[in-house]
Amino acid sequence: MSASDRQPALFLGHGSPMNALEDNALTRSWVALGRRLARPKAILCVSAHWETKGVLITGGAQPRTIHDFYGFPQALYDVTYPAPGDPALAEAIAARLSAFRARADVDGWGFDHGTWSVLKFLFPQADVPLLQLSLDLRKTPAEHYQVGQALTGLRDEGVLIVGSGNIVHNLRLFNPRSLAPLPWAQSFDAAVAAKITAHDHAGLIDYPSIGPEAALAVPEPDHYLPLLYVLATQGPDEQAGVFNETVVGSLSMTSAAVGIAA
Ligand code: ZN
Repeated sequence: MSASDRQPALFLGHGSPMNALEDNALTRSWVALGRRLARPKAILCVSAHWETKGVLITGGAQPRTIHDFYGFPQALYDVTYPAPGDPALAEAIAARLSAFRARADVDGWGFDHGTWSVLKFLFPQADVPLLQLSLDLRKTPAEHYQVGQALTGLRDEGVLIVGSGNIVHNLRLFNPRSLAPLPWAQSFDAAVAAKITAHDHAGLIDYPSIGPEAALAVPEPDHYLPLLYVLATQGPDEQAGVFNETVVGSLSMTSAAVGIAA
């Protein structure tokens, strides 16, 4: 396999599930990004919205679309993303992650909105085999990064790694009537972006050391951790770029690309 077959790794700030129905600057950026990607053999997505005890990989042949939110318009519940699974690849990934006792989960989970609300724009045909990898609730950020490192070789096998979350994600402090960036959110987001481009992975794993704003930006780690999986696959000679640098109140859409220009 030639070096050009190496797939990139992408961290995508996903924001509201409503993006799935919208034509806006964010969703247009996903459409444009999708058009620049070489077709992968498969996609492995680490979504903020699948937290488990232990490391799981969706292992079914045709995982279901999960509508894991409440109080949204019916049109959002009508969205499906019928990408096929890949049971053999799920078993191969579980074997690759055997040090973490990972296992394929055949019919427990499917594709949650962290995955489909973004991928429906990048791969609108839903014809690339898709798997999700769960976030093990019991792991430290450093351990999540180690799981990500163990995924690196998948990129050389034609698998696109996607992390879907948000670098700044505080819904408790989100006010839909006041979307101006909150100063602490902007500060944390900028610090993380600078560390991404500086290849400062240690500083990103130890994100509380960025400052007191970290506790506001990352009140729970679920939306931040997918970033660590993506960066963990970055080779020593690879650049990481940042795009969609937008802070909306207490959320940031800032995204990162490894192995493809941002
Ligand atoms: Zn989310």
